Amino acid sequence: MDAVADEMKLLEYAVHQLPPLAVKQLIAHQVCVRCIFRLFNIHEGIYALICPTTLYAIIEKATEVEAATTESSQKSEVKSSICSVCLGVMQFSYRDQKDMLVEKDHAGDFAMTVAESVKEKYHEITSFTLEVSLPTLITENESVILSYMKKKYASEVWFQEKFSFEQIITVKDALKLSITHSLETLLGVKSSVSDFRIRLTYEHVDATSAENKTGKKQYNKRIKSGSNGFVKCNNEAMQSGDVSDSNFQMKKVGQPCHMTLTCSTEPVYIGGRYLKLSRNVSQTRWIIDDERKGDASVEELIGENILPVCKGDGYKFHAAGREDIDVRMLGSGRPFLIEIQNACRLPSEASIKEMEKKINSLESNLIRVKHLKILGSQGWSLMREGEAEKQKQYAALVWISRSISDADLEIVSSFKDLKVLQRTPIRVLHRRSPLDREKIIHWMKIEKIGGSSQYFLLHLCTHAGTYIKEFVHGDLGRTHPSIGSILGCRAEILQLDVTDVKMDILNE
Ligand SMILES: [Zn+2]
Repeated sequence: MDAVADEMKLLEYAVHQLPPLAVKQLIAHQVCVRCIFRLFNIHEGIYALICPTTLYAIIEKATEVEAATTESSQKSEVKSSICSVCLGVMQFSYRDQKDMLVEKDHAGDFAMTVAESVKEKYHEITSFTLEVSLPTLITENESVILSYMKKKYASEVWFQEKFSFEQIITVKDALKLSITHSLETLLGVKSSVSDFRIRLTYEHVDATSAENKTGKKQYNKRIKSGSNGFVKCNNEAMQSGDVSDSNFQMKKVGQPCHMTLTCSTEPVYIGGRYLKLSRNVSQTRWIIDDERKGDASVEELIGENILPVCKGDGYKFHAAGREDIDVRMLGSGRPFLIEIQNACRLPSEASIKEMEKKINSLESNLIRVKHLKILGSQGWSLMREGEAEKQKQYAALVWISRSISDADLEIVSSFKDLKVLQRTPIRVLHRRSPLDREKIIHWMKIEKIGGSSQYFLLHLCTHAGTYIKEFVHGDLGRTHPSIGSILGCRAEILQLDVTDVKMDILNE
């Protein structure tokens, strides 16, 4: 309390130094008392914490404003009217999202409202950045006021000695300064450069204007053109003073701004590996002409189960490579990354384990996930880097047009790092440009199936991006060599599984 009392004394002293006439005129122009303090560079923080009535009392006492405004009703009107410069922002007066008028006496009360709506949704913030967005009308009006003062008082000693345009703290900064400390206390965390942003967006549409529906753009246009959208300031108190400035024009507003509070966070990245156990599940949501292809998608099965835990607005799915809808993904699984947008909650290690368990016990049993973990924002680049390096292993069920011999087994397994030239397959020509690409088959092995001479399992390990189906059947000679050309017969692929994806990322 002593500190506040001291501050009050300093404030009273500072106000005492103000030029009474200039203050009187600013009040007459409906400039709020906090903006007056701001314009005269007084004592940055404290005035935000003192209620306007007290502030007016101080000003009245110091500058004898009382004498100038004879009618007391007029005086109270001036006090309660919306500031012509800050449009109510520094009066902590605004219309909220439900269009309700909110008026707060102190910065602390306003901070309380902000903190409450932040806490309603976000529970685990560790710091915050406060951002404020204001209508340009505020800056425009401020420069009108300043040039008016310059014109009027440039010859005065106080103006030359103390008044400084450069030092004036902007409405934006004044608002931030006014509430940041209270917000820190109320939220229990520090303000810093943070991933968690609290954004106050102020917008103003003049409620008294008939053309107000067109909003801000129209507004700005009017300011620039200076047309009749402006009301020439003809305040009676002003005329009763010695002000007779013909070029002093400022938009008078009857309503404060609309204020919207939004919070946002950096995306949360959760990575892991997935297994796809079905030949009828696509990797990503696949809907053509309102018709879904396949039973489900890996993307949705994972995303829809993670999103609610993080309480996010949405998610994006990224995977290191892909397999066709009819190809299963087995073995160690394929690395993926889920990007949760605007997550209200950073999941704990325990809840990550829960997610994994939940996805793996889904009744549909279409996919599995493993090694789920929070990756931090470097996750995405990690995935990109990893993609270039990978090798993949497959198991293909193959049919050939003749019986398989032991010699075939030997020939096939004798190849090491076999170079294969693949022209863009016919089946993907509609989305890939026609190119010849060299791919490498690192090794191959045939596993015979008991009781069958024309069917076998082909195990192979290839360089990333090899088209396996084409490597088996040859794609009408567009892939060479192929299993068909090596064995000198027709070869068809019946089923394909990815059995391993070798990458340096997201391993156990
Ligand atoms: Zn103001």
